[in-house]
Amino acid sequence: MKYVIIGGVAGGATAAARLRRIDEQAEIILLEKGKYISYANCGLPYYIGGVIADREKLLVQTPASFGKRFRIDVRVENEVIAIDPEKKTLTIRKADGKEYEETYDKLLLSPGANPVKPPLEGIDSEGIFTLRNVEDTDRIKAYITDKQVKRAVVVGAGFIGLEMAENLHHAGVTVSVVEMGNQVMAPIDFSMAAPIHRHLIEKGVSLYLEEGVTRFQRTEEGITVFLKSGKTIPADMVLLSIGVRPATALAQQAGLELGETGGIRVDEHLETSVKDIYAVGDAIEYPHPLTGKPWLNYLANPANRQGRIVADNMALGNTTSYEGAIGTSIAKVFDMTVASTGLAAKRLKQWGMEYQSSVTHSASHAGYYPDALPLTLKLTFHPKTGKLYGAQCIGYEGVDKRIDQIAGLIKHGGTVYDLMETEHTYAPPFSSAKDPIAIAGYVASNIISGAMPVISWRELAEKKDEVMLIDTRTPEEFSFGTIPGAVNIPLDEMRDRLSEIPADKPVVLFCAVGLRGYLAQRILIGRGYRNTANLIGGYKTYSTAVAPIPAPTASSPAQPAASAPSQSAQSGSAKEPLRVNACGLQCPGPIMQVKKAMDSIAPGERVEIVATDAGFARDASAWCATTGNKLIEKKGRKRTLHGIA
Ligand SMILES: Cc1cc2nc3c(=O)[nH]c(=O)nc-3n(C[C@H](O)[C@H](O)[C@H](O)COP(=O)(O)OP(=O)(O)OC[C@H]3O[C@@H](n4cnc5c(N)ncnc54)[C@H](O)[C@@H]3O)c2cc1C
Repeated sequence: MKYVIIGGVAGGATAAARLRRIDEQAEIILLEKGKYISYANCGLPYYIGGVIADREKLLVQTPASFGKRFRIDVRVENEVIAIDPEKKTLTIRKADGKEYEETYDKLLLSPGANPVKPPLEGIDSEGIFTLRNVEDTDRIKAYITDKQVKRAVVVGAGFIGLEMAENLHHAGVTVSVVEMGNQVMAPIDFSMAAPIHRHLIEKGVSLYLEEGVTRFQRTEEGITVFLKSGKTIPADMVLLSIGVRPATALAQQAGLELGETGGIRVDEHLETSVKDIYAVGDAIEYPHPLTGKPWLNYLANPANRQGRIVADNMALGNTTSYEGAIGTSIAKVFDMTVASTGLAAKRLKQWGMEYQSSVTHSASHAGYYPDALPLTLKLTFHPKTGKLYGAQCIGYEGVDKRIDQIAGLIKHGGTVYDLMETEHTYAPPFSSAKDPIAIAGYVASNIISGAMPVISWRELAEKKDEVMLIDTRTPEEFSFGTIPGAVNIPLDEMRDRLSEIPADKPVVLFCAVGLRGYLAQRILIGRGYRNTANLIGGYKTYSTAVAPIPAPTASSPAQPAASAPSQSAQSGSAKEPLRVNACGLQCPGPIMQVKKAMDSIAPGERVEIVATDAGFARDASAWCATTGNKLIEKKGRKRTLHGIA
C-alpha cells in the first residue's frame, strides 16, 4: 500500500507516524511545501518574544530524524499543485521550480489554513506580516532585530493576536491592538472579555475596539495604519492576525466537495467526497457535537486526534469514527489566562438554542492560603435539563484544569449536576473543598430549580429604571461605588427593612459577586416576594462589563502599570510604610484595607499594600484622586499589584 500525505505538521505528521506503527511494510510519503515538518506552531509567538530562547526547541522533529525513525520518505519544499483523483496521481513542484508526478493508493490532505489578508491599500508593504509557520517567524524575528522595532500594531485580537501582543511587549515593543469587534477573543462572551480589556490596558497595550483598518502607508519613519474612525497609528511593524481560512484550493481543484462553511467536507471516517482521499485538521469542517452544524475549528488538539483516527481508517478500512470537537481552547494574555469550551451564550443565541447562564467568582485555591487569585467561571446550560453547553473561565491560576474538567463532561453529555458530583483533588494550595466548578454547579442548579431567579448584567442595564435595585453589600462597600439607582440595604439589615421594599415591583438584588444577593433574595422569597432576581456575577461582573474602555490616543499609547520608582516614591516620610497584605481579597476589599490603613496613620506617613485583585490598580488611583491622598507608586509584579499611598 502506498500512502501519500500532504502537509507535514500537526495532522499530517501524526497520521504518518501512526500509519507506520500500524503497517511496517507500507510505502509512506510525506509532502511538505515548507522547509520544516512537525514543528511547534503554537510556540512561535513565544520564540518571537524571546520567552523561548532556543529556536531548535520549536523543531520537534527534523525531516531527517522523522524519516529515519518512521522509515518515511519525507520531502520538504515539495508543494503539491494538483491532484488527479481518477488516475490517483499528484503533480508536485519542487523548490527549484521543477515539477514531477507521484502516484498514491490512499491520500491524506492536512494542508492547514491560510491567514486572511484583506485587499487593503498598502497591505503588501515591507514590515507587515502574518504568522503561520517557521519561515514567517524567522522573518518577523529578524525584522524586529534589524529594524530595531519599537512600535507594533497587531490587527485582530484573537488568541494569536493577543499572544503576539504579549510577546512583542515582552520583547520591549510598544503595542497597539486594533480589533473590529467590540471585544477581544471572539469565542467568549463580552462580560468575560471585559476584564481582559482592562488587563491589556493596565499592561500598557493601546486597545482600539470597534475599529477597522482602512489602509496602510509606508513612510520613511515606518508604517502609518489608518483606521475607520480617521485615527492613525504610527508603527514600525504590523502583524495581521485577522483570522484564517481553510486551505482548500487543492481540494477544490481536485473536485472534492466543500461544505457550507467552506472547509473540506468529510464523513465520520474523515474520508472526503472522493474515495481514498481523506482530510484532517484546519482544512476540514465537521459537525459540532452540540449543534450538529458543521463548523471550522482551528486547533492543534483536534488536528492531532484526527491524524491518529484517519491513519487507522486509511490502513484498517474505515473502522473508527471521529466524535467531533466542541472547541476547547486556552490562551495566556500577559498575567491572565482565558479558556473556553463548548458554546458561549452568544453562539447559543446565534443558533437559536434555549439556554441559561451563570457566572461565579471564586478563588484559584483556598482564600486563607497565600496567593489565592481570582477566578471567574461562566457556564451555559439548558434551562430545564441542565445539560451543559459551554464554559468560559478567566483568572490567573487553575483556569486550565477547570475548563478541562468541564470539557470532558460536556463531551460526554454532562449536566450542571455532574459538576456538583465531580470529585476533585483538594488541599489548600491547590483548590477549595468546594471547588469553583462545584460552586458553579450549585449556582446553576439553584437557577434551574427556581430557588434563585436571576438577571444578567445586560438585562439589568436595559431595565434598570423598571425595578427596585437593592445593593446588599455593606455601607462601606456601597460608598466605594454601586450601580446608579441602587438602594443600600445590607444583607444583615434585610429582615428589619422589609417595609422599604415594595411587594408589587420587580426587585433586583446584588452584592459583590452574587452570594449575599442570593441570601437576601431567599429572605424576600421566604417573606412572600414573588418577583425577585439576583444579578448574575454581582457588581463585579456588572461594573466590569459596563465600564467604558478608555480610547487610546494614537500618539500616546497607555503606559504600563509597572513603572520604575518615581522620584516622589523616594520622597515623603522617612518612616517605614505600613505594610498591608490584601492578596485574595476581591474588589472593593483591597481598597477598604487601604482606607483602614490610611485612617490609622499620621499625615505624611505611607501605606504599602499588596493585592491580587485585577482592578486594584485602577481602584487605587481613583480612590487616591477622590480622597486627596497621593498614589506614590504602582508596581505590577507578575500577579500582584503593589500600591503605595
Ligand atoms: C502562531 C500559531 C499559534 C497557535 N497556537 C495554538 C495553540 O496555542 N493551541 C492550539 O490548539 N492551536 C494553536 N494553533 C493552531 C494549530 O497550530 C493548528 O490548528 C494546527 O497546526 C492545524 O494542523 P493542520 O495539520 O491542519 O495544519 P498545519 O499544522 O498548519 O500544517 C499544514 C502544513 O501543510 C503544508 N501544506 C499546505 N499546502 C500544501 C501543499 N499543497 N503541498 C505541500 N504542503 C502543503 C503547510 O506548509 C503546513 O506546513 C496555532 C497556530 C499558529 C499559526
